[in-house]
Amino acid sequence: MGLKKVLITGAAGFLGSHLCDRFIHEGYQVIGMDNFITGDKKNLAHLKNHENFTFIEHDVTKFIKIEGNLDYILHFASPASPIDYLKIPIQTLKVGSLGTHNLLGLARAKKARLLIASTSEVYGDPLVHPQTEEYYGNVNTIGPRGVYDEAKRFQESITMAYNRFHGLETRIVRIFNTYGPRMRLNDGRVIPAFMGQALRGEDLTVFGDGKQTRSFCYVDDQIEGIYRLLLSDYSYPVNIGNPHEITISDFAEEIIKLTGTTQKVIYKDLPVDDPMQRQPDITLAKKILGWEPKVNRSEGMKITFDYFKSLSEEELNKSEH
Ligand code: NAD
Ligand code: UDP
Repeated sequence: MGLKKVLITGAAGFLGSHLCDRFIHEGYQVIGMDNFITGDKKNLAHLKNHENFTFIEHDVTKFIKIEGNLDYILHFASPASPIDYLKIPIQTLKVGSLGTHNLLGLARAKKARLLIASTSEVYGDPLVHPQTEEYYGNVNTIGPRGVYDEAKRFQESITMAYNRFHGLETRIVRIFNTYGPRMRLNDGRVIPAFMGQALRGEDLTVFGDGKQTRSFCYVDDQIEGIYRLLLSDYSYPVNIGNPHEITISDFAEEIIKLTGTTQKVIYKDLPVDDPMQRQPDITLAKKILGWEPKVNRSEGMKITFDYFKSLSEEELNKSEH
């Protein structure tokens, strides 16, 4: 019998590339797919000549053709940072809707199990805290962030429809803010933003009054949760994230200490519809997956800072915005 075969979309991105590593490590044959719209070839460079890895450059909103069988599909292709999805709003809507539809069709044709990457953003600016999977969310459909949130909500709906109507095996992970090596330095998310600023000797930009909260999960913990969910028999959404919550201004102070920068915090306008609080309730993941995060923020941030420090001067100064 050959190796089990998995297709990972968004493979050249942050989470996609870590998933490729994990599945290779577990002895799978991995096909990575990406169109590089927010990803980077260098995230997969180390797998280029691996005998169990192949790569297909393709936009998943277009018809997807894969030769042979597939056991699993993980759909991670999508812009994921607010700056990215505000810059490419239509592509964001398309990859969550048309892209997901294509992958559902592919999964059906191959009799493969499909796991989709959903997000804490389906809860919008949440009125329930911490967020449990039962909460329906508070999303502004027509606001600028709506392109991402609603694409992901549609993605969940069409996935459940295929599950119920066609009996397709599906899994839905609701990912909360995750960080680690291979995040794009200039993707605008708060961790690369603060670390890039500290390394370039710039002030750290806190948006709004900095009282909004987030809860940051280290990438290895996130990948473990996703891996367990895929292999579980649970088809409803599951939150995966680290419940340790912090305000953004306290977080900026933590980064100032960690990086040793002499710069200070400056305040900028809060982006429209920026959620005021976010913390995953992970009771369900603990119960059905036996999963909980293991890496605390100080350990994870140190590894992440070492990664950003190792980037070249040119990468550090490359400004995309
Ligand atoms: P990322 O931007 O690093 O990776 C996304 C990848 O998808 C990129 O390589 C990009 O080129 C690719 N892509 C986008 N549109 C595509 C298309 N039409 N066809 C083929 N490839 C395409 O982002 P990430 O942080 O790795 O996020 C991966 C997934 O996880 C996304 O679906 C995102 O919504 C979800 N997610 C991530 C987080 C997080 O904290 N990192 C939180 C919630 C959800
Ligand atoms: N943020 C900030 N300064 C920055 C980038 C982000 O204060 O330079 C804030 C942002 O307004 C939000 C939080 O940090 O409240 C997390 O932002 P991120 O883009 O990382 O993720 P998301 O808003 O999707 O959780």
